[in-house]
Amino acid sequence: MSTITAGRDRSTPLPFTCPSWCAVDHATQDVPRFPGDRDVIHRSAHAWLNSAGSSDEPWELSAHLASPELGYAPAVLVVDVGAPLDPYAEFDVEQADQLIRDLKTFTARVQQMRDHLVAAKEQQS
Ligand SMILES: [Zn+2]
Repeated sequence: MSTITAGRDRSTPLPFTCPSWCAVDHATQDVPRFPGDRDVIHRSAHAWLNSAGSSDEPWELSAHLASPELGYAPAVLVVDVGAPLDPYAEFDVEQADQLIRDLKTFTARVQQMRDHLVAAKEQQS
């Protein structure tokens, strides 16, 4: 009969293999994990966009990949707005493609505004 004790022996190999993009240090989790454990979520490093230059209400937009161990649910691209527990969305591949198209359109429009800003600044000087 085996006994599960609290805490993980950090020298014990993990019972699963992370995808190459996983940035989680699963060995630091205090609860022992086992193959098929639904609480094991592989997550990538975050990509960030924040409100540099905003003084009142700072905001941030982040994106990362998340995938449950053994694929009991599909991997998703998670986009978070703001701090933890604020709105977020999960995208599959097709939805991520649409998000990327929308972001390119958004970026092009911001570029146009930036160019108008330059023109306005030149007229003022
Ligand atoms: Zn992992």
